[in-house]
Amino acid sequence: MLTPSELSLCFISGKWQPAISKKQFSVCNPATQEAIGRVPNCDEQDTELAIAAAQTAFHTWRQQTAKQRADLLMGWRDLILANESTLAQLMTLECGKPIAESEREVRYAASFIQWFSEEAKRVRGDLIPEPSKDRRLLVQKQPVGVCAAITPWNFPLAMIARKCAPALASGCTVIIKPAEQTPLSALAIAKLAELAGIPDGVFNVITTSQPDNVGAVLASHPLVRKISFTGSTGVGKKLLGQAAQTVKSVSMELGGNAPFIIFDDADLESAIKGAIGSKFRNNGQTCVCANRFIVHESLVERFAQLLAQQANQLIVGDGLDRQTELGPLINQTAVGKLDRLLEDAISKGAKLVTGGGIHPAGPLFYKPTVITGVNTEMDIAHEEIFGPIAAVYSFATEQQAIQLANATPYGLAAYFFTTDISRIFRVSDALDFGMVGINEGVMSSEMAPFGGMKESGLGREGSHYGIDEYLEVKYLCLGGLS
Ligand code: NAP
Repeated sequence: MLTPSELSLCFISGKWQPAISKKQFSVCNPATQEAIGRVPNCDEQDTELAIAAAQTAFHTWRQQTAKQRADLLMGWRDLILANESTLAQLMTLECGKPIAESEREVRYAASFIQWFSEEAKRVRGDLIPEPSKDRRLLVQKQPVGVCAAITPWNFPLAMIARKCAPALASGCTVIIKPAEQTPLSALAIAKLAELAGIPDGVFNVITTSQPDNVGAVLASHPLVRKISFTGSTGVGKKLLGQAAQTVKSVSMELGGNAPFIIFDDADLESAIKGAIGSKFRNNGQTCVCANRFIVHESLVERFAQLLAQQANQLIVGDGLDRQTELGPLINQTAVGKLDRLLEDAISKGAKLVTGGGIHPAGPLFYKPTVITGVNTEMDIAHEEIFGPIAAVYSFATEQQAIQLANATPYGLAAYFFTTDISRIFRVSDALDFGMVGINEGVMSSEMAPFGGMKESGLGREGSHYGIDEYLEVKYLCLGGLS
């Protein structure tokens, strides 16, 4: 049921169907670059069909009690966990991440569904003290309506779950447009949603290799009341412009440029452990991966040597091999970007400590790389690296470190290591980032708010804040009371 050949149709209104045009596109394994499946290449017409289905289903889904919706979500979550191994294999096949990381992502995705099935029952209203005795002021929360979720390839399941679970819990219906590199994971959890009894039209998946056309319909259609997007800041800005035409609610989880500061009083051993976790998770291809190691000048050489030593020990290879710690990059464009950033940095004075260039495992594999002497003249200081290059900067004073960390239009995740309690509060207050890891290199949890400031986005996902993104606040003024 969940093999690539059985995931060749999209899911609209509870029916498995090809694109109206009958066109398809191939899905490739980045480790081998072999085609592993073919899925429908949906266009504007299919998108319209999915929107109509979601709108029809919305009328009845919103009428279910929170408990009914919560029970269905928990059934879906149980099926996802029961199929952890199959889903993880599929994920590794289409995005290349090591199998243990894929298994963790399946559990992470399930944790959002569990969390929001519980939150469904806690969507409370409010009773406001009345301004005069003949009135009662009430506040209730209602689902926004039909939601479109556009998701990236680097977390093929978790990003869908983080959006759809709160949407469904609050009574909204959804249309998912997964990334074209990773449509199979999305179709697989649609199979499980169907099996769990989620009603027809509540959860729809359209696959496409024409994101501009499909995205434009989703973002501008009057029946779609919410766009939740995770991806690059450039595409996010485009969608924001399109969504403005019908004044849609928007949630934007966009790019990052995470600083990772190591102060002179840090516990270096735990900073290195945090640095490896933060930099090399998913081969550096996450929005919260450390992008800039900002290290006190007294530690910089030691830090770079220790980081290089550990980076060199990481096992690079096909993610299906259980030993693998770093899989392939997603495509040739990603490899080209790393080469360009590295070349630019070295031409401007950065020093290669280890790595650099393609790994013998294959054309999309990259050597874990560490460079020092990085500065803000280099492109690597301003772009998301999205790969296994650790760029090390040095600083002298706390003020310099904070200034350097904040010198970016992005504001998603930041990290710092120190053992000084006063500095912990001073620095976390000063950092313009939505999430701050203090003496921690990995901090995501379904219970904590995930999201960014500045050009890293709008809104928060996960936690008790996450469901508000899918709810409208309605004020009722009851008058004429005696
Ligand atoms: P991307 O190119 O922006 O793609 C993300 C999604 O948007 C994909 O489904 C893509 O479809 C679709 N898309 C592309 N052009 C579109 C358009 N004109 N209209 C509508 N949809 C469009 O980003 P990516 O390279 O896949 O992912 C990496 C980016 O995501 C990084 O910047 C990373 O930081 C960010 N990210 C952020 C978070 C977060 O929570 N803040 C989490 C993960 C990733 P196709 O696949 O067909 O191109």
